Amino acid sequence: MSEHPEPELAERAAERHVVVVGGGVAGLVAARECAKVGMRVTLLEASDALGGAVRRAELDGVVLDAGAESYATRGGHVRKLVAELGLTERVQSPATGGAWLAGVPGQEPAPLPIGGILGIPANPFADDVRRVIGWRGAWRAYVDRLRPPLTIGHQRSLGRLVASRMGARVLERLVAPVVSGVYSAHPDDVDVDVAAPGLNAALTRVGSLSGAVDALRGQQQSARKDKAPGSAVEGLIGGMGTLVDALRADLEKLGGVVRTGSPVEALESAGAGWTVAVRPVEGDEDPDAADPGTLSADSAERLDADAVIVATTEDAARDLLAGHVSDLGDRQAAPQIEIVSLLLDAPELDDAPRGTGVLTVPGSHVAKALTHATAKWAWLREAAGARHVVRVSFGSQGEPTATASLDDEAAASLALTEASALLGVDLSRDQLVGAHRARFTQSQPASLLGAAERRAASRAAVEAVPGLAAVGAWLSGTGLAQVVADAAAEADRIRRHLLWD
Ligand SMILES: Cc1cc2nc3c(=O)[nH]c(=O)nc-3n(C[C@H](O)[C@H](O)[C@H](O)COP(=O)(O)OP(=O)(O)OC[C@H]3O[C@@H](n4cnc5c(N)ncnc54)[C@H](O)[C@@H]3O)c2cc1C
Repeated sequence: MSEHPEPELAERAAERHVVVVGGGVAGLVAARECAKVGMRVTLLEASDALGGAVRRAELDGVVLDAGAESYATRGGHVRKLVAELGLTERVQSPATGGAWLAGVPGQEPAPLPIGGILGIPANPFADDVRRVIGWRGAWRAYVDRLRPPLTIGHQRSLGRLVASRMGARVLERLVAPVVSGVYSAHPDDVDVDVAAPGLNAALTRVGSLSGAVDALRGQQQSARKDKAPGSAVEGLIGGMGTLVDALRADLEKLGGVVRTGSPVEALESAGAGWTVAVRPVEGDEDPDAADPGTLSADSAERLDADAVIVATTEDAARDLLAGHVSDLGDRQAAPQIEIVSLLLDAPELDDAPRGTGVLTVPGSHVAKALTHATAKWAWLREAAGARHVVRVSFGSQGEPTATASLDDEAAASLALTEASALLGVDLSRDQLVGAHRARFTQSQPASLLGAAERRAASRAAVEAVPGLAAVGAWLSGTGLAQVVADAAAEADRIRRHLLWD
């Protein structure tokens, strides 16, 4: 709908109050969309900072991204938002050094081959591919060129498709590290048709999986063939936290009210609208200690709303929605992730020995991946001076993070040891200027098998309740590109409901 409504509509909009619960990117985008048409908007965030998985850390004066560090350019949704917020001049592409791969049995780390899709190579005999999968792996992968394509139905499991056509080495050494690094998921669970649209159709057309990768890469006009994996992303000078700051500033400029330290405990339907119970957090109180779901405490503050948009993580959303929404379906498995950011005084990293970072073959290392952030982002290199920022990621589907039971000191030591191993450089404790750890629950990607159906069912159940919406990565799929587009669409649905129904 138009963001500049007719005067009569503007009057109606000003009488409507929307409460948004959760101040991650989904909540901020949804709140801003409602505020744009003149509605009264209150955004309530449990913690003392906005942004959720977009999180900042400061190490010895260097401000860096402790969570999400970029966005996918796919769909153009985030870029459009960035432009609307006047941040276009801050857009920065990552360095082209590309990622490396570590943990291939019997091999030193090597650059991740270029020109593939989700790690699937277009040419198994290319030097950079063969270096990783060996001659045996390359000949097995070549069988793909000789085998007829599956003509009756097609294989939707990425893992099974790759294993059957190109063999275990391509799957385990190339595809699994990329899929685990990007999605925190196993390739068997990833839906090819969502993760790589058009690949199955190209396979039927050209007769082989490697040929399909080649054909699809050729079609992707925006992606040059020599682009390194992961390069279809952008970041912002100053970090992704600048997007959160700009969203907040614009929301407040549009008249929205933003409250941090305000965990919502419960929702109650009240006539045609809602009552939202919030218990402001005092001082050092832990917002997570609140017990969402009941309206028992008299001390809770109550806000009236014509509509509520729940924009929290999945667990909190389910607690708040229970009792109002008939069937949200099963809770999804959500891996715990920890990122330990290290600020290092280490001139031996000046030449970026492992490009912009390292992905690991699942099971080969304690850490899942490493980003050499000062090699990847020019803005951060400038901000860090002669020092280096390295982010070590722990945790994947179904396993507790290796750092889970460690104190901060021990977690920093483990991250330093892993960084030394993955970067191939001896990093000592006295080179560590500072360390920061951040824990997250990672929502599942939209490309998991069955995810689209599960999410559509949950969404339909929420939409059946008038004046209620739910947004966020657990419903849109993880990644800012999905989260932003989905939150804007849901906010539009609520705007229409409040103004027209
Ligand atoms: C470590 C990590 C790295 C990532 N890197 C990237 C990347 O580089 N690029 C990319 O595109 N995507 C990345 N992602 C994914 C992306 O960051 C997320 O999908 C997205 O930020 C999720 O936004 P959200 O608003 O749905 O949820 P969140 O960011 O989780 O926000 C939910 C908010 O709700 C609040 N909340 C919870 N309960 C309550 C309550 N009861 N009352 C009030 N508030 C409450 C929380 O405190 C939180 O602020 C990354 C994710 C993680 C975890």
